[in-house]
Amino acid sequence: MDATHLDTFIDALIDELTPVPAPEDDADRRLCHLLDSPRRVLDEQPLLAVLVAAVTARNLLDHVIAQAVAATERMGIPARKQLRSGADLLTSLGVAPGAAHRAARVGRAAHTLPALTRAQRLGGVGIEFADAVGKGITHIDNRVPLSEEDRAKVVTKLMIQTTPAQVAEKARAMAIDKAGAQPEDDQSVPVAENSDLNEMTVVVTEEGRVAATFDVDALTGEELLTALDPLCRPIPLPDGSPDPRPVGKRRADALGQLVRTYLSHSHRPMSGGVLPHVSLIRPAAAGFVDTLGFTGPVSAVTADLITCDSTLGTVIVDGNGAPLDVGRSERLFTPAIRKGLAVRDGGCAHPGCGRPVSWCDAHHIIPWGSDGTTSIDNGVLLCRRHHTAIHHGGWQVYLGPDRHPWFIPPHKPGEAEPAHLRSHARRTMTDLPTAA
Ligand SMILES: [Zn+2]
Ligand SMILES: [Zn+2]
Repeated sequence: MDATHLDTFIDALIDELTPVPAPEDDADRRLCHLLDSPRRVLDEQPLLAVLVAAVTARNLLDHVIAQAVAATERMGIPARKQLRSGADLLTSLGVAPGAAHRAARVGRAAHTLPALTRAQRLGGVGIEFADAVGKGITHIDNRVPLSEEDRAKVVTKLMIQTTPAQVAEKARAMAIDKAGAQPEDDQSVPVAENSDLNEMTVVVTEEGRVAATFDVDALTGEELLTALDPLCRPIPLPDGSPDPRPVGKRRADALGQLVRTYLSHSHRPMSGGVLPHVSLIRPAAAGFVDTLGFTGPVSAVTADLITCDSTLGTVIVDGNGAPLDVGRSERLFTPAIRKGLAVRDGGCAHPGCGRPVSWCDAHHIIPWGSDGTTSIDNGVLLCRRHHTAIHHGGWQVYLGPDRHPWFIPPHKPGEAEPAHLRSHARRTMTDLPTAA
């Protein structure tokens, strides 16, 4: 079946789904009748048969959708409807964006992958798997151009894999293998160093987290690792015990630091004439939650952290999303006060830390919203990790009689309060010999 020869299939499908007063014998042979008068299936064999049939039907229908959406693109139908692509057409029919793009991608690639298309037509190949094979071929072809014959062989090798992830892994291995077998050519850039192949995806997950994958050339990778390396160092806890963070967590924390350092620099591209900053959008009316521009709703605790920090902005909006107030300037620590804090704290003041001044948020000891002032005696420099420990992690900070910040470790209500800690000399991430 080809996308342009769907008529017979569609006729059969319509016949199948149209309720007709048929003779008793084959009345319940129609799909719609089966759905209307379900029988309880309790035995293993029939139940498994139902599963197999349903999965096969799903694979077939996904194949038909992919073929049909590619056909609409060839005929220019999305453009006539002011849509960018067949994927948008599917989205307008209620298909989730990821699935819509996948269907369009698989449909477009179908004519170059006849063996795969034949298998899909038999209902034995799911669309996720077909998509992985198509992507695998593109991955290899980008690195080592494939002849028609090679392509068929590669498809066969990819199709014997069991899962889409294994298909992708096999494709990467084959690309490396084929590139290694290429004759040496002085002009060609080695795959590892070819920045044309660089790729990065960033998605906001259903939980509102941000997940990313990337694949970059050796030099860009080297730069990234060089930037991350010193920021990944383990930092002992205030009592000197080892940093409990696993390496993956330390690496992610380091990435956050890189981004914040970048955002705090003024030499960077503008967006709409202003330097892009993280903005918290805060509805004036009660009963609405605060949101961030890219990632959506955030909890009150995180909103407090954002409004506490002078480098992040808050925009108060009315019921229609129009800004009312762009934040009172007194909330922000002035350069003079920050300089004073830098002299007193010498970096993150949390005992044992000491991350440099330029990485630190200025935390309001008494929140600005609770009448806390923006002054040296109500401010303390904290790196993002320890700023978060105060807002989210149960740590408390106050200004001691020596006019230096003192910290109270987290403890359960009713428990004896642990000893208070002052910034001390065991500071890891600082150039200064001792604590401030
Ligand atoms: Zn704070
Ligand atoms: Zn710190």
